[in-house]
Amino acid sequence: MTGCDEQSRFLAACEQCGSVYAAQQHAEGEIVPIGKPDGCACGGTTFSKIEESPESTPVEDRRDCR
Ligand SMILES: [Zn+2]
Repeated sequence: MTGCDEQSRFLAACEQCGSVYAAQQHAEGEIVPIGKPDGCACGGTTFSKIEESPESTPVEDRRDCR
């Protein structure tokens, strides 16, 4: 497992049920939720990027990895 990668993380919402996940965007433009290779729990595999709220940043877990 790689604990530290340089891809930017953001929040993405499932286009089917609206569930929000921390996600990454692949080089091809595909948005994939982190830790959920099979997609959303509802079965949806398409996600739309949403802007981070300035008030809460739940994705910010490990900025200090070396
Ligand atoms: Zn869903």
